[in-house]
Amino acid sequence: MQPALPPALNEDKPIVSYSPQVASIHRPKMIFASPLRGSHDSLVRQNERAEADALERIQDDADLNDRIARGMLVPVPTSGSLTVNGNLPEDRRYCRPWTATFLRDLARAHQTQFYTSLEVSSAVRTVEYQKRLIGINGNAAAAEGDIVSPHVTGATIDIAKSGMSRRELAWMRVHLLTIQNAGKIDVEEEFHQACFHITVYKSYSPDQAAPIPHKHAIPSPPATNVDDQPPPDEADSEGL
Ligand SMILES: [Zn+2]
Repeated sequence: MQPALPPALNEDKPIVSYSPQVASIHRPKMIFASPLRGSHDSLVRQNERAEADALERIQDDADLNDRIARGMLVPVPTSGSLTVNGNLPEDRRYCRPWTATFLRDLARAHQTQFYTSLEVSSAVRTVEYQKRLIGINGNAAAAEGDIVSPHVTGATIDIAKSGMSRRELAWMRVHLLTIQNAGKIDVEEEFHQACFHITVYKSYSPDQAAPIPHKHAIPSPPATNVDDQPPPDEADSEGL
């Protein structure tokens, strides 16, 4: 008979619960090495925080391009320490300004440790695109309703795990958990698409979060035809 799984391996219980206490390096190593599993509660929290940060959902390509033109979304800050997955269309290599700051900081800290770059596998999505993704990838979060994929706000990015060594994965978990425990991000580790899904809150970089006059929340349009689906390789690389 199999012994009962230790709590760290019990998938019913999220290992990482939101807590304002800052992670201590003196905690047992096993906790840090545990994957940062997401939970429904975490997705609810990401939606609540997005609402508190007054982030609208980006509806379609016209809405996306308008926000890029107005500087509400900025390019993913690629550099020697940060790349973007080549399958990601040019107009979706954007994120919120404070998310870009987080990415710069994370990529720099990671490179200092490992002398390699990180890869962004997904960034901003439109509600229209997310609806198509749901049809292809059952793991994708909803596009509409109270609880949706936070990618449609532009605040969320995915960092690919493929190619990372065990040491890198362990370092990422510790580093991200510390920032999550400070209440500045929420992170979920995905296994199907093998990425860290990270929602960054305005509080990460308050200076960049000055209120921008915005349109009133746009009601979701009625469902439209979803004929031009993204190519499978593109959709395959994108998770929640
Ligand atoms: Zn994601």
